[in-house]
Amino acid sequence: MASITFEGAQRWYAGADSPAVPGIDLVVEDGEFLVLVGPSGCGKTTTLRMLAGLEEVDAGRILIGERDVTRLPPKDRDIAMVFQSYALYPHKSVRENLAFALRIAKVDRQERERRVHDAAALLGLTDLLDRLPKQLSGGQRQRVAMGRAIVRSPQVFCMDEPLSNLDAKMRVQTRSDIARLQRELGVTTVYVTHDQVEAMTMGDRVAVMSGGRIQQVDVPLALYDRPANLFVAGFIGSPQMNLLPGKVADDGLSVGGCTVPLDPAARAALTPEVTVGIRPEAWTLVPPGAGVPVRVSLVEELGSDGFAHGVADLGDRSAAVAVRLPSRGHVTPDDILHVAVPEGAAHVFDSVTGRRLGP
Ligand code: ATP
Repeated sequence: MASITFEGAQRWYAGADSPAVPGIDLVVEDGEFLVLVGPSGCGKTTTLRMLAGLEEVDAGRILIGERDVTRLPPKDRDIAMVFQSYALYPHKSVRENLAFALRIAKVDRQERERRVHDAAALLGLTDLLDRLPKQLSGGQRQRVAMGRAIVRSPQVFCMDEPLSNLDAKMRVQTRSDIARLQRELGVTTVYVTHDQVEAMTMGDRVAVMSGGRIQQVDVPLALYDRPANLFVAGFIGSPQMNLLPGKVADDGLSVGGCTVPLDPAARAALTPEVTVGIRPEAWTLVPPGAGVPVRVSLVEELGSDGFAHGVADLGDRSAAVAVRLPSRGHVTPDDILHVAVPEGAAHVFDSVTGRRLGP
């Protein structure tokens, strides 16, 4: 096993006006499961492919442990990749698919059989070893693709959206299988996804990317509780954080007709243009006449949770907001809810730079 270090690793595609990834600095600890997450085109696959040696590094370098792998071909990096497309050999059995890379690497037969047997047991594939890929479900094929990576016992796993082809239920199951396996094997893993739920539930740490840059890297709940900027605030969490214009007032922050209490020291540190972030579950419902009025347009009942989506009347403007409902069945479209922000529940950002202000 080994750590991974990106030092200003840059990728500039030929013909592009600017680099897709201007320079990534990131250390993934030995044995860590690090998720790169971000919207389409943010540079997460490019970053992973630089690590795997499938994309050239135009500046900076990448280390695995103490080894500088920047210029090494993929086969010499001791990395195994798992892709979105399982890329199994259709005419080979599960056993042969698992053993193939070991055969190429001239691993002797006994050792090969031992590793295939162990990986199959770990992945629940023992009874399927003689089947062809077309005789497997999507989830089982994905496990074979994982198995092919595992048998090689590499220093690093690189996984690029490996769950995208699975249906929602299978994705949840396979998500926890991969997270468990990674913990058991202790192989340093970089995992790419655009799905923030996947990132939050699987990663030891999560690096949120936008525009080719890491916006924040931290443990999942720290991203949720203390987003470093407006991008992370809007990206992590579903429904997303409500982001509303705020004004600095004498006794705190004014959002529409509602005052968010703030201690004077925190208030003094604010810039004139702020954006106030409130999670849907952070609002409190208050009696009519107090707080911000929200006209409900849609109620989402998810069973365990319910959300009202509507339009908040902020006086000089209106804004779409989401509010988690404390109980089911009492709110319907066109109702007016009145919501307020309790002390400590507001996130405050500089509207111009997007940077988090205060604690
Ligand atoms: P997705 O989730 O859609 O795969 P991503 O976050 O993985 O997106 P990348 O595939 O890394 O993003 O792409 C980053 C940027 O680089 C994008 O603007 C993309 O258009 C560009 N890009 C990717 N591959 C190439 C290439 N081979 N040649 C030129 N530009 C590329």
